Amino acid sequence: MSRDPTRIDHREPDARLSGAQERAPKPFLGLWFECAKVYGRAYRTPDGRAYLGKCPKCGASVRFGVGAEGSSDRFFKVRC
Ligand SMILES: [Zn+2]
Repeated sequence: MSRDPTRIDHREPDARLSGAQERAPKPFLGLWFECAKVYGRAYRTPDGRAYLGKCPKCGASVRFGVGAEGSSDRFFKVRC
């Protein structure tokens, strides 16, 4: 009979990181400003927690939280 007491199914703690963050996410989102009828971009804030864009016509600021809504969309319509 062969027993192997060292074969214990340990999970290494390194496995925890999987799926937490996208790898190399794009640094901006695509936007369509309905009031200006132009495409624009929302760039990521320095802390990486949101994207900020600004309507070129009326100057309204738009902010998109990163991950807060669970959305992975990279393109948004903006009505301002
Ligand atoms: Zn606008």
